[in-house]
Amino acid sequence: MKLSRAYIPTQKETPSDAVIPSHRLMIRGGFIKPLAAGIYTILPIGWKVVKKVIEIIRQEMDKIGAQELHMPAINPIEIWDESGRNKSFGDEMFRLKDRKGRGLVLAPTHEEIICDLARKYIKSYKDMPQMWYQIQTKFRDEPRPRSGVMRTRQFTMKDSYSLDCDPEGMRKSYELHAEAYRNIFKRCGIKFHVVGASSGLMGGSASQEFMMETENGEDVLVLCDNCGYSSNMEVAASKFQEKTNSGKYNSLTEIHTPGKRTIQEVSEFLSINPWELIKSILYISEKNEPFIALVRGDHDVNEEKLAKIVGAEIRPAHPDEVKEVCGAETGFVGPVKTAKKVRIIADNALENGKNFIAGANENDYHLGGIDVSRDIGFASFGDIRNVVSGDLCINCGSKLRVTHAVELGHIFQLGTKYAKTMKAFFLDSSGKENPVYMGSYGIGVERLVASIIEQNHDDKGIVWEPFLTPYHVHVMPINMSVNEIANMAEKIYNMFIENSIETIMDDREVSPGFKFKDADLLGMPIQIVIGKKWLNDGKIELKIRKTGETFEVKEEELLLKVNSILFNKA
Ligand code: ATP
Ligand code: MG
Repeated sequence: MKLSRAYIPTQKETPSDAVIPSHRLMIRGGFIKPLAAGIYTILPIGWKVVKKVIEIIRQEMDKIGAQELHMPAINPIEIWDESGRNKSFGDEMFRLKDRKGRGLVLAPTHEEIICDLARKYIKSYKDMPQMWYQIQTKFRDEPRPRSGVMRTRQFTMKDSYSLDCDPEGMRKSYELHAEAYRNIFKRCGIKFHVVGASSGLMGGSASQEFMMETENGEDVLVLCDNCGYSSNMEVAASKFQEKTNSGKYNSLTEIHTPGKRTIQEVSEFLSINPWELIKSILYISEKNEPFIALVRGDHDVNEEKLAKIVGAEIRPAHPDEVKEVCGAETGFVGPVKTAKKVRIIADNALENGKNFIAGANENDYHLGGIDVSRDIGFASFGDIRNVVSGDLCINCGSKLRVTHAVELGHIFQLGTKYAKTMKAFFLDSSGKENPVYMGSYGIGVERLVASIIEQNHDDKGIVWEPFLTPYHVHVMPINMSVNEIANMAEKIYNMFIENSIETIMDDREVSPGFKFKDADLLGMPIQIVIGKKWLNDGKIELKIRKTGETFEVKEEELLLKVNSILFNKA
């Protein structure tokens, strides 16, 4: 490809909404162009990378015996009603109507369609196991699309699904996928963690996420660098650090705390440690039941864990509900003497604790000297807190690390949840009818490309590995109006192409500095300069983008040198 004719709209300016490096570099390098919030065109060199990543994914999926198919992106809404997910997906799902007024959905994922295929075509245990995958567009009306193609409203996903007769079969298919995913991310050159995860909207039992650590990630991970324990914060467990209360308030006392609502305000006002306070938050379950969650002042409530204990979706109460149930405004709520009797769920770190301070359920007052087992009625205990840095590993007792990450892929054992609701049954070897055991597995393709850039760039631009780069070699004739240079560049360009080396040539009439900047920004592994050195000494200059190493090479040695750098070919 010649740059003079290519559509690679590089730009100097960084778009104002681009905070993370991959977003900045993909826009500046002309890999993507925004159309609307969370909706992008993948431009030609971006698409070249996407295709290479897809090819790696395809090879690894085929290797585990999965079969590629292609399901419709547009689905009748009835099938989503059947599974119950028309409701649970809420505003995240795009819905539309056809000309006859029938409801349709732009699919955010495809479990429902798989179930429909299974119930129609899987009749007997002999028809399984099956593993089906596709590489296809997904639609999700994300509340906060951001970070370029990391979180968009339309994106490409490799999604696959396994169908098995029993839990053992399902686990086997799951393990095969875990292996394929490890290979995919390794081949993409990504350093990743495999972590225990919550199953969220998908439902089901076991699930793991493939995570890339980066300070720009939206997910929070808990890692033990000693024994390898790793988990998404949503489900992470830990041993909390024991703390001793000062005993400044050692009998039940009302304390005047005018206008002091937050843990920080109250602890500063009373000169006590944050962990001597009890954080009390009123929640309402989807069954409309109020309950108060309690955690130690230095901890935070983990709503995923809390919802699991409650067995329903939950939300923090509105101010008027707080007033009605507790008798005071937010900030003065506590577990003792609420206006209405209410269920209390307390974190394990509070069990048997004494001399705590909490809201008094009266505006501008807190209550000191709380003895948890003596004073708090209706309390049940559980792990409902977020892990904090410094907590200890439940396996080995080492200090845990809390860090940010991007989710690259997610694998689920769904069990029979979908099969039962959608009636995907089969006959087992004794002629008995059983539900199919399903697994579901996803990788976001554009997010993976962005993540590769997150891990492979410097202050000048992207640094591609040879197996993912849009082009292997970036040829720069320094001055196209000098015939010897232009002719030589053309000759080299043709030689590379004849030898299956993907080549881009900057044949534009622009300054050398401009060409070098663009070459560094675009990040092809090898840059070749034909300029003064060629005119004077008959030497071609070659630079490795990643290391900055430079070589001066004779024409006849060039192909060998390039091949050996790119493919270790002698
Ligand atoms: P997230 O927690 O980031 O929203 P998710 O749990 O909704 O992800 P899955 O439903 O498991 O994601 O989808 C599988 C994969 O698809 C994810 O691991 C991620 O790589 C990708 N993905 C999900 N949502 C988006 C999105 N809005 N934009 C780009 N990629 C996405
Ligand atoms: Mg999501």
